Amino acid sequence: MGKTVVMKTVVMRHPRGDPRPVETPEQPARSDPADGCVFCGILAGEVESSLVYEDEHVVAFMDITPVTPGHLLVVPRTHWPHLEDLDEDAGAHLFRVAHRLARAVRRSGLRCDGVNLLLADGEAAFQEVFHVHLHVLPRFAGDSFRIDADWRTADRGELEAAAAKVRTGLRRLGDERPRAGSESPGASGSTR
Ligand SMILES: [Zn+2]
Repeated sequence: MGKTVVMKTVVMRHPRGDPRPVETPEQPARSDPADGCVFCGILAGEVESSLVYEDEHVVAFMDITPVTPGHLLVVPRTHWPHLEDLDEDAGAHLFRVAHRLARAVRRSGLRCDGVNLLLADGEAAFQEVFHVHLHVLPRFAGDSFRIDADWRTADRGELEAAAAKVRTGLRRLGDERPRAGSESPGASGSTR
C-alpha cells in the first residue's frame, strides 16, 4: 500500500474535557469501553459517533479519519475480531448493508463518482481495529486514496498452482463443523 490511510481506522474517543452543549447530554465521557474496543464503545454509547444506519445486527457510522467525505464503516454489533469469527450469514448481512449505503452515498449529494468496499482482515492487511468492519469509501478522480501493488500478469502455471491450493482450502472448510456460537443475523430469513 502506498497511502494506506483508509485502513488506519483510528477512531478517537471523545476528548474528556471537551465542553458539550447542554442539548446533547448523551455523550458520557466515562468508563473505558469493554476490553478497550472502540467500536464496542460506540455500540455501547460510550464513544461519540455520527450514526447513519442501524439494525438488529449492524451499525454504520462515519469513519473519524475519512479518506473522502462520506467514508463510512459498517460494523457488526457483536465483537468479532476477524472474518474467521463470524459466520457467512453475518458476512452477507454486512455486505448487504454496505451495498445499500454505497447506493445511498451516490444519491446523497456528496461527491461520489465511484465506491470502494474495503475490508481489512488481519494486521498484515492493515487492520487496526480488531472488530470486523467494512469500509464504504466514496471515490472521485483526484482523491487521495492509493493502492500500490505489483500488478504484473502471472503465468498460467502459477495461477493454476494457487487455484489448486485454494480449492484444497475449500475442501478443508467443507470438512469443518459449522462454527458453534456464532450468531446468524437471519435478516434474509435464510437458514444455516
Ligand atoms: Zn468490539
